[in-house]
This record gives sequence, structure tokens and C-alpha cells, in this order.
Amino acid sequence: MKELIVKAPGKLVWVGVPTPALSSPAGALVRPIASASCDLDRRLIAGATPFKPPFVIGHECVAEVLEVGSAVSTLKRGDLVSVPWKISCGTCKQCLSGRTTACTSVAKYAAYGVPAGGNWGGLFSEVVYVPFADAMLVHLPPGLNPIAAASASDNLTDAWVATSRPLASREDARVLVVGGTESLGILAVQMAVAAGAGSVDYLDSDDYRRGLAERCGAHVDIGFASDLNERYDLVVSATREQQALHKGLLALAPGGHCSCIGIIFEDPRIPLFGMYMRDVTLSVGGCSVRPHIPKVLELVNTGACDPLLVSPTIVSCVEATEALIQPLAKCIVVRERITQSA
Ligand SMILES: [Zn+2]
Ligand SMILES: [Zn+2]
Repeated sequence: MKELIVKAPGKLVWVGVPTPALSSPAGALVRPIASASCDLDRRLIAGATPFKPPFVIGHECVAEVLEVGSAVSTLKRGDLVSVPWKISCGTCKQCLSGRTTACTSVAKYAAYGVPAGGNWGGLFSEVVYVPFADAMLVHLPPGLNPIAAASASDNLTDAWVATSRPLASREDARVLVVGGTESLGILAVQMAVAAGAGSVDYLDSDDYRRGLAERCGAHVDIGFASDLNERYDLVVSATREQQALHKGLLALAPGGHCSCIGIIFEDPRIPLFGMYMRDVTLSVGGCSVRPHIPKVLELVNTGACDPLLVSPTIVSCVEATEALIQPLAKCIVVRERITQSA
């Protein structure tokens, strides 16, 4: 089978490797049919992260189930499923507490598409082994477009948790989304609206993304020169710029919450004393997406959010090696199905 690897900074290639074996009764083999780029992927490909090539890439997809182990009870060949980015067993103490990102049955950081915690393959690949199929895989609601759901594995669900969790205890909240990565900010705008925000403002220096955010329901007529201090109950930081995060933290109203979901590899400047005086919360995640994927698929299925409003570029596997290195919003690689659900 073919898998997509980052061979060197800026260089993607498909390589032939042995098809993974179904090596556990609890496991499954799946075939990705709609694989999305995560906002981290372009930096992984560029070599601009602590993870150095070569490694297999891809950690967001909808897949068809090819084969299941003898102990798998909820899945069969032909089912369409969302595959979470993180490997998790579903039965350890952390998983049972909903912290699937911290699963103790596998190596720390064990995940698809990142060279950490072992090599689990990547979700652009032709066939992927899922070691805990019942615990990890989530059925797609019937009729849901796999392309629209591709990002539920990571970015889309991250955006939902970053907004819905703080908004659950903040009625009619004023929300600021600080954008800057390819899709997370736009998805966060949609999810803030879906979670019942009172208003959503979007801050980004990029005109194209501001246009997308406006289509998703955000007010975009603010800039980095605007005085935003102490105006927002929730700030979602979906930027990789330290200064933009800093601006977002200063924008928190007393009792506010900042969800930082843009990955910043450096140690950014945090205005801690001002935050202390306003009794604000900063959460940084890498959230445990698996428990929240069913809700996110429901939101997509009912039209409460539309991930395709980030205007993804949809390409074939052949086109993927070029498309994934372009400065696009979101890229989705599609494959023909080879199974049909019974
Ligand atoms: Zn990711
Ligand atoms: Zn676990």
C-alpha cells in the first residue's frame, strides 16, 4: 500500500510499504476516503516544528472500515467512521475520565501523523491500523458528507471544545476569535455561534480569512490597533503569533476564559498580573477529541456548522503532494470507496 511521508522539509512523497496487519482482536483496518490537512501539517511539512523528517503525515480523516478483529462489536466492513488523531484504549483511568489524549495504555503522545509515541502511520495513507476500534472510531450519521466531516478528527472538534466548554457557563457571552492559522479560527467562529455566543468578533490581519469569518457570522471590522482591552468573556486564540495571543489575553473581561488552541512552540509572554487581577482562566489544549466527536458530527449533520465554509481545496491522492505544500486554507484528499455498507 501507499503511505504519504514528509521525506525532507517541504517535500512530500508517496512510498510503497507493507499493508498493516490486523494484529489485535480489538483492532480494525480502515481506508481513509476523505483526509484533511490539520493546521499543524503545513508546519510539519516545512520542518518548522520539533519533529524532523522523515515521518508519515496525516491525522484527520473519515475512513471506510475494511476489516475488524474478532473482539470488535460495534463495527463492520463498509462502515464509515471518523478516526480521532490520538490513539486511545477507552478503558484506562484517563480514557474513562474523558482524557483520551493522556491514555496510559500506549506510549505518551501516541498519535497518527506525528513522529512521537511510536509510528502509528498517517491518515493520508491507503490503509491504517486502529488498535482499539470500538473505543476510537465514531460512526458517521447516515448521509453525512465524509468531506464535511473529515476534520472532526482534530481541528473541528478542537474548535467545538474551545468554545462550547467555556460558553456553557457564560450566557450571552461576547466572544473574540484571534485567527491566524489556516482553518481553526474560522471553525471556532462557527462553533461559537453554534454554542450560543451573544456576539463573535474575529481578529486577523489576513483579508481572505476575515472574509470567511464574516460569512460564518463574525464581525470582522476590528484590527490589531483597536482597543479591545477587557471586552470579551471568551477569547479563542487560534494563532501561532505570540503578540496576537498577548492581545487576546489583554482582551479578556473580568472572569473571562481564553482557550488557546493555536500551537506556539516558543514560550510566549503572558500578562499574568493583569490576568490575576481580572480572575481569568487560560486553557491550553490539545484537547481530548474522542468523547466530543459524536456531538460534532451531529452539529455538522444538522447544519449547525458547515466546515466546508473554510473553502477547502479538494484533491486526489496524485495531486496531494503538490496541494498540501501550497498556502491554502484547508486541503482534503479524497479516495474512491471500495466497500459498501451492508
Ligand atoms: Zn492537528
Ligand atoms: Zn486509555
